[in-house]
Amino acid sequence: MQIKRLRLSGFKSFVDPADLRIEPGLTGIVGPNGCGKSNLLEALRWTMGETSARSLRGAGMEDVIFAGTATRPAREFAEVSMLIEGADAEETEIVRRIERGAGSAYRIDGRDVRAKDVALLFADAATGAHSPALVSQGRISAVISAKPTERRAMLEEAAGIAGLHVRRKDAEQKLRATEANLLRLDDVIADQD
Ligand code: ATP
Repeated sequence: MQIKRLRLSGFKSFVDPADLRIEPGLTGIVGPNGCGKSNLLEALRWTMGETSARSLRGAGMEDVIFAGTATRPAREFAEVSMLIEGADAEETEIVRRIERGAGSAYRIDGRDVRAKDVALLFADAATGAHSPALVSQGRISAVISAKPTERRAMLEEAAGIAGLHVRRKDAEQKLRATEANLLRLDDVIADQD
């Protein structure tokens, strides 16, 4: 999977719409302290479904919305769009939007989807909000000091099998619900005998 374009609007310090085209090969982002380099990485993680405000250096999820400065008023929403290209050369656009008081919404290629659908899409592509492919400041020491179970989760995410666990859990839930229905059916049939 390759990220081809990132479009931000109202996300943290990116108050005005900003478009970043990411060309094949190595991309470096340089700039003075506080210019928004880490915010860009957080925009990627946020669009991939990050649910922890703390890991986005905020107290609440709405902290990703531009909070205003002495000269510019705060924004009411933040939106990030990510264009990716899969191994099959197909392009997919993922959009996450948050409005004050209204929470987050996701779209894949213009269709409203659940957070889970976005998480599965990235898990299948062996990446995602918690993927070891995204290394933010302090993460290296976190990987080194991770417990074996945590390190296993990182390896599974890197291997692209994390999505299978989610699907297995879903399937097990459906199986339990079906078994409960069958039991009820047995009761109903027994009552009629
Ligand atoms: P460094 O090189 O020091 O790590 P950086 O280039 O990675 O810096 P960031 O940490 O990405 O910079 O950006 C920090 C800036 O983003 C700060 O100026 C901060 O005020 C601003 N910022 C963060 N959240 C918001 C927000 N919700 N609204 C407005 N500005 C924000």
